[in-house]
Amino acid sequence: MSKQEIKARIDELRKLIEKANRDYYDLAQPTVGDRDYDLWEQELLRLEDENPEFKDEASPVRKVAGGVTEGFAKVTHNPPMQSLDKTHAKGELADFDAFIRKTISGFTYVVEPKVDGISLSLRYENGRLVQAATRGNGVIGDDITANAATIASIPKTLPADAPQSLEVRGEAYMTREGFVELNARQAAAGLEEFANPRNACAGSLKQLDSRVTASRPLDVVIYNAGGTGCDVFASHSEMIAAFRQWGFPVAPWSKYVKTLEEMSAAIDELQELRHTFSFEIDGAVIKIDERRFYDVLGATAHGPRWARAYKYAPERAETIVEAITVQVGRTGILTPVAELRPTDLAGSTISRATLHNADQIVRQDIRIGDHVWLVKAGDVIPAIDSVITEKRTGAEKVFEMPTVCPVCGGAVERLEGEVATRCVNPACPAQLQRRLEHFCSRNALDVKALGGRIADVLVEKGIVKDPLDLFSLDYEGLRRLDVGEEGQVRRFGKNADNMRVAVEAARKMPLDRWLFAVGIPNVGVTVAKDIAAEHAKFSELPNSPVLKGVIENDALKGKERKILKIKVEAAKAVLAFFESPYGTQFLARMQELGLDPSSAPKEAVRTEGPLVGAGCVLTGSLSRPRGEYAKLIELAGGIVQSAVTSKTKYLIAGANVGATKTEKARALGTEVIDEARLLELLGGGAARPETATGPAPAASAPAVPVQAELF
Ligand code: AMP
Ligand code: ZN
Repeated sequence: MSKQEIKARIDELRKLIEKANRDYYDLAQPTVGDRDYDLWEQELLRLEDENPEFKDEASPVRKVAGGVTEGFAKVTHNPPMQSLDKTHAKGELADFDAFIRKTISGFTYVVEPKVDGISLSLRYENGRLVQAATRGNGVIGDDITANAATIASIPKTLPADAPQSLEVRGEAYMTREGFVELNARQAAAGLEEFANPRNACAGSLKQLDSRVTASRPLDVVIYNAGGTGCDVFASHSEMIAAFRQWGFPVAPWSKYVKTLEEMSAAIDELQELRHTFSFEIDGAVIKIDERRFYDVLGATAHGPRWARAYKYAPERAETIVEAITVQVGRTGILTPVAELRPTDLAGSTISRATLHNADQIVRQDIRIGDHVWLVKAGDVIPAIDSVITEKRTGAEKVFEMPTVCPVCGGAVERLEGEVATRCVNPACPAQLQRRLEHFCSRNALDVKALGGRIADVLVEKGIVKDPLDLFSLDYEGLRRLDVGEEGQVRRFGKNADNMRVAVEAARKMPLDRWLFAVGIPNVGVTVAKDIAAEHAKFSELPNSPVLKGVIENDALKGKERKILKIKVEAAKAVLAFFESPYGTQFLARMQELGLDPSSAPKEAVRTEGPLVGAGCVLTGSLSRPRGEYAKLIELAGGIVQSAVTSKTKYLIAGANVGATKTEKARALGTEVIDEARLLELLGGGAARPETATGPAPAASAPAVPVQAELF
């Protein structure tokens, strides 16, 4: 390449990377696969290194990518939150190892999972979480304290032995399971689905309304020191041990190794394990354990010289989109699906992948006949990563969303603000068949005998016109029903009896199962449980003051608005269902059939007992497992906390508890008591559990009512 060509290529790569960064960080909508992105980055770094005259501080590979978002207060990171230098080949690791050995000796490497999430800084003052921030551009990030505070696993307070002032850094992520569930919810609501758990996590953290963040399944892994409080640690391993002790989630796997060979083996082992973690990983991070070498080794503009990321090649497969079909879901949503030439990917054969909606197809420019790269989003859902445009022949066809329902021929419509196209014909058989299958699915009423084929036949032959018809079927007659395929006669026979038994059992299913079974948009298993917990009977739902209250609460402004477990979308959807003609009819029919499912009995919240409302923290070694004491405290109305706060009434100190801990607790107004005193409080010394010296004295009749059931 001539100098001119090199310069042109550099410019082109910079533009490509900048655009990809914008799509990824600002729009949370990636347009290139990770592999391509990394290759561009590598090529650009190499060209810039080989042609220093074209080096530019503003080059996207010289600064940390990721912008700051409007609407958030800004936080300055000191020291900056750096990225990591990356390697994709074992040979490059040898170079890294050689460089380290040339510079220092007497060190250990630690190999950790490279968590594929969103980097985060957490700052604590006087043992309290005071600030959470994103990496942003590395120097300035977004203040997302309110949102991070909704993540259950982030400690809000630290134990007394943690530094007064502490900053830790790590990664926030969305669990794989949570991602799949969230996307199902998004799709059911006609909203855009997230491309992968990392995007879903980024989108969740950058919410201006933290109630949205609170509803998302987020978690963190902490793996780095921040600017304060971590200087005392001589090694990374000591630091991680302390983090763990202070209540921070840390990586579930790490390996300490001495040689390049061991490092390489650890990286392979981690790759084998990658699917077992609740988070996605995109590689391994190799660090030097001894922190005294960090200054010696220093850093580049991109990342520290004492650490290196090793990126795994993403698992992907090439295939061809043979057709694009359209499915009609239970709620009437039309979903385009790519019918693929079957191919193996990460352990299974894949022949279809959802394309989500018309916008997504346009955005990715997927055409019928295209060669595509297939990946698994969140490691589970097959997804088209990108089109291999070089392989286009010109014969590919652009897909168009049908203007009528492919099942019933009825009208379809696309509501404003939704990406989904829906069939609006309530009598659409696709919807009835799906509704019936859903009604009988495992998490709904669990009528196993009604598989896909049976549901088809019952709907096709007009035997079932509504799921509730199951409760008034002639099961004797159903034995003779022909359920064979392609002209072959097969009788339903004994399965009809199984079905009747299951349908009878469904009459007694609890309210949450029934509510889920109805198939209301936005009402998944969890939401149905939350709503059912607030109602005694199904028939209470249409006029529920609780659901109306949720909607009223949502109309309030600012501080007056409470964070409620039931989301406003769900409350609206349930009320709308019962107001619709179909919903009214459905409820009337249930009443005719004598069906009014009730809630499973709630676990009583204790409003009385010797410890009512008292926050209690257990510490030190106790003569009984903590879990047992925790149960006793809860039965007595107390609240078990993990760390002392100003709301803690009692610190129950077992043996070997340091004076600092107890003094700190006292300073917060907490009473420090021993085990014997706790037992007294639990019931005049009566509830003394057995100790190693023998059974408790006979006089210790259980003072806590249900204690007898516990032991
Ligand atoms: P990248 O985002 O691909 O530039 O990779 C660098 C990022 O990896 C860092 O900024 C961290 O957010 C992230 N990372 C994930 N896991 C780790 C880990 N165990 N140690 C250090 N960084 C990590
Ligand atoms: Zn239809």
